Amino acid sequence: MDAQLLEIRDEVFRRNPGETEFHQAVNEVFESLVPLSARHPEYADAAILQRICEPERQIIFRVPWVDDAGKVQINRGFRVEFNSALGPYKGGLRFHPSVYLGIVKFLGFEQIFKNALTGMPIGGGKGGADFDPRGKSDAEVMRFCQSFMTELYRHIGEYTDVPAGDIGVGGREIGYLFGQYKRITNRYESGVLTGKGIGWGGSLVRPEATGYGAVLFAEEMLKTRGQSFDGQRVAVSGSGNVAINAIAKAQALGASVVTASDSGGYVVDEAGIDVELLRQIKEVERGRISEYAERRGASVSYVADGSVWDVDATVALPCATQNELNDKNAAKLLASGLVAVAEGANMPCTAEATAMFQEAGILFGPGKAANAGGVATSALEMQQNASRDAWSFEHTEERLTDIMVNIHESCAATAEEYGMPGNYVAGANIDGFKRVADAMLALGV
Ligand code: GLU
Repeated sequence: MDAQLLEIRDEVFRRNPGETEFHQAVNEVFESLVPLSARHPEYADAAILQRICEPERQIIFRVPWVDDAGKVQINRGFRVEFNSALGPYKGGLRFHPSVYLGIVKFLGFEQIFKNALTGMPIGGGKGGADFDPRGKSDAEVMRFCQSFMTELYRHIGEYTDVPAGDIGVGGREIGYLFGQYKRITNRYESGVLTGKGIGWGGSLVRPEATGYGAVLFAEEMLKTRGQSFDGQRVAVSGSGNVAINAIAKAQALGASVVTASDSGGYVVDEAGIDVELLRQIKEVERGRISEYAERRGASVSYVADGSVWDVDATVALPCATQNELNDKNAAKLLASGLVAVAEGANMPCTAEATAMFQEAGILFGPGKAANAGGVATSALEMQQNASRDAWSFEHTEERLTDIMVNIHESCAATAEEYGMPGNYVAGANIDGFKRVADAMLALGV
């Protein structure tokens, strides 16, 4: 990084003390921007970097709710409206006890560039709460969502800010949030949230989109080396919406997917993960991954508290959470014959792990590009809502596939143009940044 970039980066760190995940995300983008800022002095003249790192608006609010025992509980809600140069703020809501401003800002920052890469008219934002949905009853989740929306509704709208799901927020939560928005505003404004149910304004393929997209992106990377998913041994982390659909798509393309995990441990299923059983346990029963091993029998091993990255694999798809794959895990995977990594989660690989994969010449698809299929399909849901239409599964999946292929092509072409062929991190960061920066220049200070 050159002196000018370093100075701006350090100023961002100073202005946002203690937000380590946000610093990590900013640093990663800045490291890619050296060749871009050399070619585009107009960005520095307009202080684009400084402006892009400062969210346009940050909302922090109290979320009071009553638990099943009649006790009043308090959580903290967030919505960071980061950048609207390309369209209304767009990005998910995360409900997890680890959520604080630094996590929401890292996710919102990544979202700006990811959304730009999709080529759809969406800006970047993110939100959530430090609420832990685990162990809560359905009625408690509903009351929490209603209270959350009682504040959030005044900040969002189909032309303003369009939230969706993320960790801890799926179809059930979006339903309760949408119901409360509709109740308060007296408007059936479908386009205000995405990830809705199919019967009430949702889009087919949206639930599958992030996992499918990550696999489609990895398949495009593999093609550049004359390979494909067919015959690969794949390790997947996580067992939520992204992981389950990544497993399904990789299997459909001929891969053998041998792992899944949750915060308690991981399973190794040498016969290939049974996706329907996994769905039943995680999505219907909201159970634990250990139950998968219990029900599937002796051929499946369950490892409590271990790292799923101890399992040999040729393709790794981290689909759980940030910083879940570190330098030690990377070394282990590299020694086991790894060919490709695609990030289904947001920033799952630490900076050190990413550097090791790149130095080893592994195909590495960063989350901004590889997991953009979810938000891209959210934009397709917004299109359907705006035209009061509902597309077929085939049509929607075709659009998603086109978008993922285009993202791969433009990241590869940008990396090439800036003298770093095969470097998808540089390609995604430069291309995503440039799209947003050019719009900001055009729109004035
Ligand atoms: N939370 C997802 C992401 O990280 C999806 C966001 C959306 O659909 O708005 O991109």
